[in-house]
Amino acid sequence: EQGVGGGEEYLFKIVVIGDSAVGKSNLLSRFARDEFDHNSKATIGVEFQTQVVEIDGKEVKAQVWDTAGQERFRAVTSAYYRGAVGALVVYDITRKSTFDSIVKWLDELKIHCDTTVARMLVGNKSDLENIREVTVEDGKNLAEQEGLFFIETSALNSSNVNSAFEIVIREIYKNVS
Ligand code: GDP
Ligand code: MG
Repeated sequence: EQGVGGGEEYLFKIVVIGDSAVGKSNLLSRFARDEFDHNSKATIGVEFQTQVVEIDGKEVKAQVWDTAGQERFRAVTSAYYRGAVGALVVYDITRKSTFDSIVKWLDELKIHCDTTVARMLVGNKSDLENIREVTVEDGKNLAEQEGLFFIETSALNSSNVNSAFEIVIREIYKNVS
C-alpha cells in the first residue's frame, strides 16, 4: 500500500479467535492499551483496536479484531474474517476443552481466509501454572503438526503478549514487502 508523502504504509487486519473466556479481549487490551480487566464480561461493542508497530523503520498499523462475544453463540460471521492476513488462535492452558477446540477454530479460519494467513497458536494464562491442564509440549506439537507459530502468554502479567502480536505482524510484513 502506497501512502501519502511517498512513504509506505501498511495496515494489517488480524483476528483473535478461540473459545469463550480464554482471554482474547484481555490479550487485545493488553497489546493495544496495556490494560487488563479482571472481571471482563463479554466486551460488547468494540470491533477492533489499532496499534502502530515499527518494523524495519516502517510504520505498520495492526488492526486487531475482537469477536466481542460472538463466539459464545457459534456465530462468528464471515465479515469478521474478511480481509484478515493474520490470526491469533487462543486457548486457555488451564482448560483442556479450549485446547481441543483449536482444530475447530483452524477449520473456521481455513473456510474464511486465504491459506497464506499468518497464524499463531496462543496458550494464554501462563501465570496459572499451578492449575495447568495443557502442557507446553502439547501446544508445541499441535503447532508443529498444523504449521503454526506457538507461544504461551499471560494477559494478566503481560508475559509474551507483545511478542505474540509482533511475530505475526513480522510474518505478514515478510509476506507483503
Ligand atoms: P474472552 O472471552 O476470550 O475475550 O476472554 P476475556 O479476555 O474476557 O477473559 C476471560 C476471563 O479470563 C476474565 O475473567 C479475565 O480476567 C481472565 N483472564 C484473561 N487473560 C488472563 C490471563 O492471562 N491470566 C489470568 N489469570 N486470567 C486471565
Ligand atoms: Mg471477549
